[in-house]
Amino acid sequence: KDFRNSVKPNWCPGCGDFSVQAAIQRAVANIGIEPHELVVVSGIGCSGRISGYINSYGVHGIHGRALPIAQGVKMANKDLTVIAAGGDGDGFAIGMGHTIHAIRRNIDITYIVMDNHIYGLTKGQTSPRSDFGFKTKSTPKGSIEHSIHAMEMALTAGATFVAQSFSSDLKELTSLIEAGIKHKGFSLINVFSPCVTYNKVNTYDWFKENLKKLDDIEGYDPSNRNMAMQVLMENHGLVTGLIYQNKEQKSYQELVHGYSEKPLVYADLKISEEKFNELVKEFM
Ligand code: SF4
Repeated sequence: KDFRNSVKPNWCPGCGDFSVQAAIQRAVANIGIEPHELVVVSGIGCSGRISGYINSYGVHGIHGRALPIAQGVKMANKDLTVIAAGGDGDGFAIGMGHTIHAIRRNIDITYIVMDNHIYGLTKGQTSPRSDFGFKTKSTPKGSIEHSIHAMEMALTAGATFVAQSFSSDLKELTSLIEAGIKHKGFSLINVFSPCVTYNKVNTYDWFKENLKKLDDIEGYDPSNRNMAMQVLMENHGLVTGLIYQNKEQKSYQELVHGYSEKPLVYADLKISEEKFNELVKEFM
């Protein structure tokens, strides 16, 4: 299966998003998904272009709204593998409300955030993941806001799969995306994906120096939510690997009362006029 298409990405050479694209393509091929069984929904930003660079169905949505679209697609056709993707501004600023509610809903989709700590498409402004003191055009004297603790927030919101990776580590990133897709529920994968053009602080070298692999922490248990929270806090969120997974909690689809065995797009939803009038009366 070939998930490459003929569209040439117009990301800057060296942008971390290239690895995310490659990792998604490898992960879905490894799982054995066919291109027509995959939908990639993206928001707005440099990373939002990713939906056009993968040989699958793709929706390039609007800013911060990849998740509502992706959830709608999954509810309409549960047989599809649905990946939502976007940047940290898209998911943790304008789209944060959707992110939290998609997490707690535990709908069976995978959300990949390309986290470069900056707004790249608009030429370099401070984002919700920028560090305190970070200087950009929008904060020339340094940001006076603290970075959002995205992974801790996800755990608090009731996430059942939380992982983090780095664009330089294609092997780990691919395997986490595979695990996220296989997870029966909402999976959030935050990827440190450097913006080589506008972020001169959080570079590949900076991440290499500062990231710690969870696999190297003796006794780390990703099924232990308290441990996950403690390790995140102790390491300022700069860890990579599977942070937390709850395999027991049912997904949204499994809990929807009367959810059709068949994907809704194929179900016969016609109702009689009598039944329709009955339903209307209930709302009057
Ligand atoms: Fe990537 Fe930054 Fe270039 Fe956008 S501006 S394509 S995020 S390197």
